Amino acid sequence: MQFIDLEAQQARIKDKLDARIQAVMAHGKYIMGPEVREFEEKLAVLCGAKHCISCANGTDALQLALMAFGIRTGDAIFVPSFTFASTVEVVPCMGATAILVDIDARTFNMDPESLKRAIGVARKSGLRPAAVIPVDLFGLPANYHAINQIAAENGMKVIADSAQGFGGTIDGRMTGTFGDITTTSFFPAKPLGCYGDGGALFTDDDALAELLDSMRVHGKGSEKYDNVRIGMNSRLDTIQAAILLEKLAIYPDEIEKRQQAADVYSRELGEHITIPHVPAGYTSVWAQYTLTTGSTDERIRVMASLKAAGVPSMVYYSRPIHLQEAYKSCLRDPQGLGVSEAIAETVMCLPMHGYLDADTQQHIVGALTRSLSDSS
Ligand SMILES: *Cc1c(COP(=O)(O)O)cnc(C)c1O
Repeated sequence: MQFIDLEAQQARIKDKLDARIQAVMAHGKYIMGPEVREFEEKLAVLCGAKHCISCANGTDALQLALMAFGIRTGDAIFVPSFTFASTVEVVPCMGATAILVDIDARTFNMDPESLKRAIGVARKSGLRPAAVIPVDLFGLPANYHAINQIAAENGMKVIADSAQGFGGTIDGRMTGTFGDITTTSFFPAKPLGCYGDGGALFTDDDALAELLDSMRVHGKGSEKYDNVRIGMNSRLDTIQAAILLEKLAIYPDEIEKRQQAADVYSRELGEHITIPHVPAGYTSVWAQYTLTTGSTDERIRVMASLKAAGVPSMVYYSRPIHLQEAYKSCLRDPQGLGVSEAIAETVMCLPMHGYLDADTQQHIVGALTRSLSDSS
């Protein structure tokens, strides 16, 4: 059994992928070829953002966003401690200061009250609250209603890290339009992934879009050997764009199938264990289906029984950012990051993708409920 079944997806569109890749080899425009523009346009249309600028990966997308906002030394950037390292890593890379914020135990996303306390820490330390990076963790959009308001009150930019959440919605609106800039990743295991590295940024702001387009190609001006600002080399390969075009065509259907799989898990497991919470008006793209066990010991037991039954499970993330060697001295919410710590000790993720058939899911659910009743 696969944790994420990329083979089933490939089998579904193999002929189309082959034709797309052949077409790129035939025209030979390996960098910034026509597929890149076509993909950006289709992606922008799908999510309703005015502009989509593709780039080399989701980490670069975050860094490009910080560069476009002129983030530098003396600026405070607020990030959740329960996330993948990229969200935080880009901040010191720009010479700015990351301030770690706690999460909500039910959604695993940034806690707006903790954000407010963290802003207080920045002001006390003489730093300028410049931007907040909420993460759409495990596919669920962050609490943008609350966070965007706090950002506006404090004159901060919002960079939505939707590496895991592209396609999620709030009140019918899709990720890509919630932050001043939204970023995503096409790493193979993400809900919309390519066959290598890839990323993109979204914005409704014309000037920002132009700036990002320049910055991803060495700060180009009217042409590429005219360098008007400091930029970087961060382009999406044409072959990856070609692959993504075919994957994008089936993405809405895959999102539906992920939702159906999540519904089965939630219906069958809800009485036995804490299932992921999706607030009213929100939809998740289920980058992960994440359970909260009662204790680390219970997690170890349940994962071992699943493994014995041939069911893969994973822990995302076993250590919050503030407990990582590289980030242990980061500034943080003065009340601590206790929820991030507790969640890191108890969560576990089940197989999730758009190709889980009913029998496989029943096998997973059966193994899980048996292991829970054995241990209780
Ligand atoms: C995967 C991921 C990234 C980085 O994406 P890459 O394409 O691997 O650089 C950033 N933030 C989050 C939350 C992620 O899950």
